[in-house]
Amino acid sequence: MKIEEMIAAKRADCSGCEACANICPKGAIEMIRDAEGFAYPKINPELCIQCGRCDATCPALNFKAKEINSLPKVFAAIYDDEKILRHSSSGGIFSALSEIFLKSGGIVFGAGFDKNWRVVHTSAKNFDELENLRGSKYVQSKIGDVYKKVQDALKSTNVLFSGVPCQCAGLKHFLGRDYENLLIVEIICHGVPSPALWEKYIDELGYAHEITNVNFRSKRHGWSSRFDVNFADKEPLVIQTTKNLYGKLFLNGISERPSCNACKFKFPNGQSDLTLGDAWGVKDFLPEMYDSRGVSIVFVHTDKGKNFLEQASLKTQEIKFADAVKKNPRFLSPTIADPRRRKFFAALAKNADWFAVMQKYFEDDEVAVKETAKKNGVAFRKKFSDVIAQVKKNFAQNILVVSSAREGDAQKNLEKFFEDGLTNCAVYFLQPTGDGQLVCTENFSGAKTKLQNVSALTDFVNRYKINAICVEKPLNFGDDSSALIDWLKTCGLPVKLFTQKKK
Ligand SMILES: Cc1cc2nc3c(=O)[nH]c(=O)nc-3n(C[C@H](O)[C@H](O)[C@H](O)COP(=O)(O)OP(=O)(O)OC[C@H]3O[C@@H](n4cnc5c(N)ncnc54)[C@H](O)[C@@H]3O)c2cc1C
Ligand code: SF4
Ligand code: SF4
Ligand code: SF4
Repeated sequence: MKIEEMIAAKRADCSGCEACANICPKGAIEMIRDAEGFAYPKINPELCIQCGRCDATCPALNFKAKEINSLPKVFAAIYDDEKILRHSSSGGIFSALSEIFLKSGGIVFGAGFDKNWRVVHTSAKNFDELENLRGSKYVQSKIGDVYKKVQDALKSTNVLFSGVPCQCAGLKHFLGRDYENLLIVEIICHGVPSPALWEKYIDELGYAHEITNVNFRSKRHGWSSRFDVNFADKEPLVIQTTKNLYGKLFLNGISERPSCNACKFKFPNGQSDLTLGDAWGVKDFLPEMYDSRGVSIVFVHTDKGKNFLEQASLKTQEIKFADAVKKNPRFLSPTIADPRRRKFFAALAKNADWFAVMQKYFEDDEVAVKETAKKNGVAFRKKFSDVIAQVKKNFAQNILVVSSAREGDAQKNLEKFFEDGLTNCAVYFLQPTGDGQLVCTENFSGAKTKLQNVSALTDFVNRYKINAICVEKPLNFGDDSSALIDWLKTCGLPVKLFTQKKK
């Protein structure tokens, strides 16, 4: 298949990474915006020599899903420098890594603003230039010819490239090989809104006033999401992202690129050395690392990533994989598009005043928002179970969980197991039915086995190669609880008691 056929068949396959445009030896590919304002490649037949390099380079056309052989190590991290922390979206880890490169004469690539507040990929060779790359910009950034610039820079110096995961994959495919002197750093990605939408929005805000600064993640009121625009001649606009027009469209899944709802580069399919994100929930699972100015998480995928992380001026502490993803589902699964997305972009296509359409959009239904949240939950749960299924394929240790929890609490139990370091297991749940039977369910699979007597239990643990039994305490099986634990011990396996943490 060729890239144009791929896009015609399924537009959502193209992430707009621009690897094809960078690789074309004839400059025959132009990235052209569609009606929604997202750029897609367009080949000029008069320049094209049919060499096929664009098709061979496209990360979507040449996508191969990875197997999980082990879960990555994850750390909470803070760069304890007041100024940098205040100006970084989470714990400043991007700046700490960048400093290693800049101090050794290297170069850092990432997303910054141009003079009109458009978001573009650009580079920094010194600390002043780094400021523009700092901070999340909730817009799809334009790559332009940056992959070619990275390739050039690699001939003479150390390079850090940062971007969303599809851009990191785009760079990897463009380069076609590993470089010792290249560190690739991706961010956890909720998805990217339309650049045209952003431009209409910011141009409207700056129509009669000069904008002097834009910050999507201002920390004026601590580590949360606040949109903050400064003007030369009036008071700044500072507003919670959840209450801001542009922010609502982003957070509700209305303004993202179609590929973001079918993202191919979630774990384990990212192609970077490190993944950076916000350590949401750190106050609960590692209070000693909590800082009201922001805390990062970093997933380590390669030895190179580990080496750079060790060199960075950061306070770090290892955290459990389950804690890291619990409040950060976008590491594992894509955002679901809001049901209103199609209508929203159709309205934009018919109306020259995009700002008015955006304003009109939030008078309406809470129901649709709730529906999307529900679907997101299902997608995350499915992805989580995919991860477990893959881990299970590669490891032999299986566990029988005995719990009086309802089936809907299955995920919490799993997370508990991750906390216990039992990452390498398949999990079976033994639960009572309404009529007093004990039924064993393989996690999320729906396959049920009745375990009524000792021989059924022994047969089950042998058949499924169960290595341990974990019993939730308290076990609300009435008077039968301790009898049940004794009964479980008859199969000769260790029986471990656990208690779920209270929220
Ligand atoms: C569109 C988007 C969605 C995100 N979604 C999540 C999420 O769901 N969960 C989560 O934990 N974190 C998410 N993040 C990442 C998070 O906001 C922080 O960027 C990350 O925690 C790193 O923060 P920091 O303090 O180390 O450094 P910062 O200085 O804040 O990091 C800046 C880094 O982000 C890159 N960057 C900024 N904007 C863009 C852009 N538009 N395109 C490509 N790269 C960009 C820069 O190149 C630089 O590497 C998202 C970021 C963006 C841009
Ligand atoms: S086939 Fe070759 S020349 Fe034609 S657009 Fe693709 S890369 Fe460019
Ligand atoms: S290389 Fe990137 S921009 Fe080009 S077709 Fe493939 S996904 Fe789209
Ligand atoms: S969600 Fe996926 S496709 Fe969308 S910008 Fe992020 S990495 Fe790219």
